Amino acid sequence: MRILISADMEGISGIVDWAQVMPDCADYGQGRQLMLGDVNAAVNGAFVGGAEAVTVADAHYLGRNLLLDGLDTRARLQSGSPSPHGMLTGIDDQPPYDALVFVGYHAMAGAKKAILCHTWSNTTVSGVWLNGQAVGEIGLNAMTGAYFSLPVIALTGDRVACLEAQNLLGAGVEVAVVKQATGRYAAECLPLGEARERICIAVSGAVRKALAGNGPKPWSVAAPIALEVEFFYPEQAERAFLVPGTERRSGTRLAYEAPDAMVAYRAFRAMVGLGRG
Ligand SMILES: [Zn+2]
Repeated sequence: MRILISADMEGISGIVDWAQVMPDCADYGQGRQLMLGDVNAAVNGAFVGGAEAVTVADAHYLGRNLLLDGLDTRARLQSGSPSPHGMLTGIDDQPPYDALVFVGYHAMAGAKKAILCHTWSNTTVSGVWLNGQAVGEIGLNAMTGAYFSLPVIALTGDRVACLEAQNLLGAGVEVAVVKQATGRYAAECLPLGEARERICIAVSGAVRKALAGNGPKPWSVAAPIALEVEFFYPEQAERAFLVPGTERRSGTRLAYEAPDAMVAYRAFRAMVGLGRG
């Protein structure tokens, strides 16, 4: 079984603030080390569960957060940006992957008691819907995984991100809760050893289940996909409206009908990129 791990940063153990996840900030170096620890726990879990190959896609910001010299040497690293598949870079590799694992993921924009909740851009997007279903990055990336017939079998993050994943993708997704938020920038964090043990247990269990044929199915969204994006400000919607085929639903909301998940993913990323300005 070949596993692609998509690693974001906001849902990593011990991280509670932008200062730990943005390269210009004082605590970013510490954030990178914390990220490596969680990712290595997931890599180890995948191999403990029986995976034969693991690739890690560095999925936060510019994709240059994970330090290769600290990464488990059994794993390959997809690093840098821009790349065609964004947070799922490598997903079209050959031979194909069998399953996805999301590490360090966070809840959708506007979530309650969720560390650093947002959807792609903290200053641009306030909401996203796929066929009327509210989603964040978990849903957008799960939808794109399903385009490649890949299920999300495990996810790590704070309690609300893990609940979001199970509510959306089904209770069969193994989760590791590494912190519980009391607010957007405050959480009770597990000791690192315990958090990483939980990650290893969740991922190894998920791989075992998948190998036994009992894992979750890919999260397919019925096509054509009605994508709606709500922006914080009208000028962001006006810039994003340059994407051909978009329809303006209100001052701040655009709609787009996509024939499949890959077009929906690309259209969404184009809208955010333009809207951000
Ligand atoms: Zn991120």
